[in-house]
Amino acid sequence: MGKIAVVTGASKGIGRACALRLAKDGMTVVVNYSHSDEEAAKAVEEIKAAGGDAVAYKADVSDLNQVKEMFKFVSDTYGRVDVLVNNAGIVRDEYLLMLTQENLDKCLDLNIKGYFYCAQQAALKMFSQKSGVIVNMSSVSSKMALAGQSVYSATKGAVNSMTQTMAKELARKKIRVNAVCPGFVKTEMVDQLPEDKKKEYLKDVPLGRFADVDEVAGLVSFLCSDDASYITGQAIVLDGGLSL
Ligand code: NAP
Repeated sequence: MGKIAVVTGASKGIGRACALRLAKDGMTVVVNYSHSDEEAAKAVEEIKAAGGDAVAYKADVSDLNQVKEMFKFVSDTYGRVDVLVNNAGIVRDEYLLMLTQENLDKCLDLNIKGYFYCAQQAALKMFSQKSGVIVNMSSVSSKMALAGQSVYSATKGAVNSMTQTMAKELARKKIRVNAVCPGFVKTEMVDQLPEDKKKEYLKDVPLGRFADVDEVAGLVSFLCSDDASYITGQAIVLDGGLSL
């Protein structure tokens, strides 16, 4: 049997591209999502049409019980977990003085707690296998300040920190943990920005364009491969030069 990958938030955007790419690399992919049944089913269809294998699994990864159920399903169905891409995340841009409790909680619950829940459940299995790879989707916002993103940046800074510590803790069981820090990527998250904001941001990107989701998926694929066998604990920036 090929490797088993769980990609969270894989019905759309970057997660979807990662799911498609890992399936192309020969992995069986669990396409996690929380609402978009049709999009998740389409991603699975697309993978199968290309000769790959995938299954959609609906679970809110900010809910520990649902995460436990999902990994029980993966374990019962496939017996192992080789790759986790912790990707499901949200952005709620708000200036500090306007910050609402609801948005603060949502961001912390999904972008931080959700990553811990999934990493812990995956690592339990990877520990007994003595192998595995975890890729945490961070953001260049963890490395540079964008007004209105204090909460989002804080969650992504936390992702980079947890990546280093998890890498150190899990290395003895040959489990590698890395983070990917994209700049602006063409997904719904960026599409929903006002046009004038997009133009303003684009001026700061030396390569003069936003990233394509497949460019992020390519880096994730590399980090999951044996070519990256000596890379762990890193937060790798992919931002067209934005943070320079
Ligand atoms: P997106 O297009 O908005 O897609 C988000 C995905 O996450 C969807 O599949 C969504 O599924 C899923 N999701 C949302 N809440 C969930 C939950 N509670 N449980 C499980 N799945 C959930 O987002 P994206 O732009 O691809 O971003 C993906 C990751 O990349 C995020 O961590 C983000 O911070 C990071 N990132 C994005 C950019 C960018 O420019 N786009 C840049 C840097 C970093 P449903 O629709 O089914 O809920």
